[in-house]
Amino acid sequence: MPESSEYAPQRAEMVEKQLRRRGIEDSCVLGAMLKLPRHEFVPEEFRARAYEDVPLPIGSGQTISQPYIVAAMTAALRLLPTDRALEIGAGCGYQAAVLSLLAKEVFTIERRHELASAASEKLSSLGYHNVHVHCGDGTLGLPEFAPFNAILVAAAAPAAPQPLLAQLAEGGRMIIPVGDAENQELQLIEKHDGRLSTRMMEGCRFVPLVGHHAWQKPPER
Ligand code: SAH
Repeated sequence: MPESSEYAPQRAEMVEKQLRRRGIEDSCVLGAMLKLPRHEFVPEEFRARAYEDVPLPIGSGQTISQPYIVAAMTAALRLLPTDRALEIGAGCGYQAAVLSLLAKEVFTIERRHELASAASEKLSSLGYHNVHVHCGDGTLGLPEFAPFNAILVAAAAPAAPQPLLAQLAEGGRMIIPVGDAENQELQLIEKHDGRLSTRMMEGCRFVPLVGHHAWQKPPER
């Protein structure tokens, strides 16, 4: 994939100031985010702001996470080049593209049709052929493609959805924001010998995960 030279200085500054200086050390994650054209994924009117330290609107009331959160969640998954990864909440497809540079294969699920089809088109037009976009309720996971070595949930849940825990491979890692509509905490859940362990990471704020094993409708903000 050709490296995008457009916005290269802004991207380098983002990696240095927002990621490296704030403690992201994983060189594979830093390298992927240095390479990936984030401006291609955000709506036209936000292109010039794509590398700022903020989440940005991507349409349909949803947002793309700020670069630091994308990096911190990706680093927590400790991806191997042989891993199969699952993302819930494809949004504009940027996080899935980051995962695709570090894992073997990425499945991503988006409940909104218009976002799912736009993300799918964007990812294939940019050449990310190891990402598969599915439209549907991500809280059910993708049992037909399970198990997954890594699962990243990009929307806030009241608790980790049971089907996703079941679809986590032995030795697998899952990162998920858990909490209410206002405040959540990133949880890193790992499966060893069939048993789950959970570690709390940092505070965060995501749009709600809406589905059978999460909020039935978006909670009041
Ligand atoms: N990772 C995305 C941003 C995600 S925003 C990116 O890089 O752009 C959270 C997304 O989760 C929204 O697009 C929202 O529509 C989606 N979502 C919410 N509940 C969902 C569910 N049950 N299944 C799949 N997607 C869901």
